[in-house]
Amino acid sequence: MPLFEYRCQDCGHVTEFLEKADTKAEHPCEECGSKKTERILSAFAVGSSGSSRSGGTSCPTGTCPR
Ligand SMILES: [Zn+2]
Repeated sequence: MPLFEYRCQDCGHVTEFLEKADTKAEHPCEECGSKKTERILSAFAVGSSGSSRSGGTSCPTGTCPR
């Protein structure tokens, strides 16, 4: 399940939520309660498409020359 970040457009606070990608749920800012939050795809979700953050595919052991 991807991790989404919601950034409050009023105070700038970012809140993280684990939820399905196709959800339409809204998450009010946990700091100020504003509902003007925009969803940001977090690095966690993006990383699954090529980033080496989750262990990497080119060097699974981490001991390769490069
Ligand atoms: Zn806020």
